[in-house]
Amino acid sequence: MFASCFPTYAPRVFCCFDQPDLRADLTLSVAAPAGWDCVASSAPAARPPAGQAGTWQFETVPAMKPYELSLCAGPYVTVADTEHPGLGGAGGPVTMTVRSRATLAGVPGQDRVSDILTRVLRCYEDLFGVPMPYRQCAIVFVPDLGPLAMCLPGAIFVSETLLGRLADENDIHSAVVLAHEAAHFWFGCLVEGRWWDDLWLAEAMATYVSYVAAEQALGLDAVWADFALAGQASAYRADTLPGADPVAAPVPTAAQALTLTPAIVYSKGASVIRQLAALIGDDALRAGLRAYLARFGGATATLADLISCCSAASGRDLAGWAAQWLGTAGVTNPASRAGPRPRRHPDRPGPPPGAARAVRHPARLSHPAACAPIESRSAPTSATAGGCAAAPWSAPRSTARGRSCPDFR
Ligand SMILES: [Zn+2]
Repeated sequence: MFASCFPTYAPRVFCCFDQPDLRADLTLSVAAPAGWDCVASSAPAARPPAGQAGTWQFETVPAMKPYELSLCAGPYVTVADTEHPGLGGAGGPVTMTVRSRATLAGVPGQDRVSDILTRVLRCYEDLFGVPMPYRQCAIVFVPDLGPLAMCLPGAIFVSETLLGRLADENDIHSAVVLAHEAAHFWFGCLVEGRWWDDLWLAEAMATYVSYVAAEQALGLDAVWADFALAGQASAYRADTLPGADPVAAPVPTAAQALTLTPAIVYSKGASVIRQLAALIGDDALRAGLRAYLARFGGATATLADLISCCSAASGRDLAGWAAQWLGTAGVTNPASRAGPRPRRHPDRPGPPPGAARAVRHPARLSHPAACAPIESRSAPTSATAGGCAAAPWSAPRSTARGRSCPDFR
């Protein structure tokens, strides 16, 4: 059984104002049948004796958003259970568990999960300067999970369909999906956008850093090429369609956040962040992200907050850059800055001076690094038992997606 309140189901479960900037400490108790295992966002403080039905009492999770309440329960078996003293800073160690159905125990791929995530989490702690925010990293392979994977505080739920790719040690996509979900412990769980307009703050950033971690921590040298061929290409296609939204697009309601185009939010967003790294330098970007996480950890933030941190770290005003690349839809057209193209046949008359040429986005400037790589993932579709289905991205609004986005946390 898997149940999640994401994105708008919390008010059906308990009385609340369900929005990202309203958080509360959450303590969960679960009455479960005999033989069931229960996984939530914290470790169980008390559980029934083995083989008996009873109540599971979970430790209190501080500063949770209503829609983050999730539970996975059933006759799962634990295929890995390790403790990592080097993770979690002073709050460590971090306990990492991997669970699956009993019939899948021993299936190739599961044995790689702990190693991948441990290396990725270490990379993020070093990159962000902020320890893993949660004392557990519980991974569960869930049958019929809608998205490829889903991250919530202290837990990552993964579709069993990813197991086949995980079994291939050279598969890039499965490693990037896990790295993407792990990044959400910081971008999405620890710091969330104040409203859904800034959904990209979590998704684009998690996408970008997942490729950084895959290259640096997992040694996958071809990840950015993979990104360019899949994620970035899908972003270009989506961005040329009529009605394309900017990366940071106004969203009237939480439900409408799920109609945003993944290729834009995830892939173009990550491309733009990579462009920012080229513009101000990796060190300045890292310093900006560290300041952002340190300042807004446990709370919410906006596009302006991120840009303010990166501007301070780089010593340059990035407000105009942000408006141009994150607040404006459409692809860059090099013709808009390159001037008239040379005529192929010099003896034929060209257009009269001052005549308008067909330029899709004549006012937009380009930056060489704008063609930087990205990636994407899948989306939640049906996740659940108990009516908490998240169906949002099962029917993409555009057909421009190359690869489905792995999640929509
Ligand atoms: Zn995500």
